[in-house]
Amino acid sequence: MASRRFFVGGNWKMNGTKESVEELVSVLNAASLHDETDVVCAPPSIYLHFARSILDPKISVAAQNCYKTAKGAFTGEISPAMIRDCGADWVILGHSERRHVFGEGDELTGQKVAHALDSGLGVIACVGETLEEREAGTTEEVVYAQTQFIADNVKDWDKVVLAYEPVWAIGTGKTASPEQAQEVHQNLRGWFRANVSDDVADAVRIIYGGSVTAANCRELASQDDVDGFLVGGASLKPEFVDIVNARA
Ligand code: PGA
Repeated sequence: MASRRFFVGGNWKMNGTKESVEELVSVLNAASLHDETDVVCAPPSIYLHFARSILDPKISVAAQNCYKTAKGAFTGEISPAMIRDCGADWVILGHSERRHVFGEGDELTGQKVAHALDSGLGVIACVGETLEEREAGTTEEVVYAQTQFIADNVKDWDKVVLAYEPVWAIGTGKTASPEQAQEVHQNLRGWFRANVSDDVADAVRIIYGGSVTAANCRELASQDDVDGFLVGGASLKPEFVDIVNARA
């Protein structure tokens, strides 16, 4: 636990204006953020360059999605090369809203992971079960299968953070309990031990996402296998600073 750097991402989703981005950035730039935590903000792609140009360099920038090739006739899409050209270093892939609202499956997610890594981006790869899957007792089966598609496309795990985001907890105000999160994170780490290597299992950051707030982040952060957070709603508010500092 101690050897893995804490990682907190803020997924701004499809929210904000130039003005609100400036306001949020001024709060983040002025805040005292724990030195031992990697902090990454993911603005809508149209604000990537703007956010990067005003954010303190100690805060990294991520895109919320990308396509699986470098360029071409793919109306509406953006490539990892463009994301890097805007000064961002990370991309979120496989988010449940991409999977469930836009119908992006495991195979496409895996192809995106491969291309983003080849292009030099770090990847925050998301997995998570729906409520029906949890109630049917298939949580592990679902997240292992999603993780396998990601793993099949990763050579260098140093550039990958795995986000466990139960779909029923995203944007619902229903956070997984610290015990529920720890159980899945620990099992996922076991999956890495069995299917990738001991070194990757020990080193890979597994972060939790789903209704994380300033009020619940400390207890979640105290779990052995919770190495940080992917934060949606609360990342648009000053309380994001408390979440970044959950382990400070
Ligand atoms: P939430 O979103 O914190 O608003 O639940 C998390 C996410 O979608 O990454």
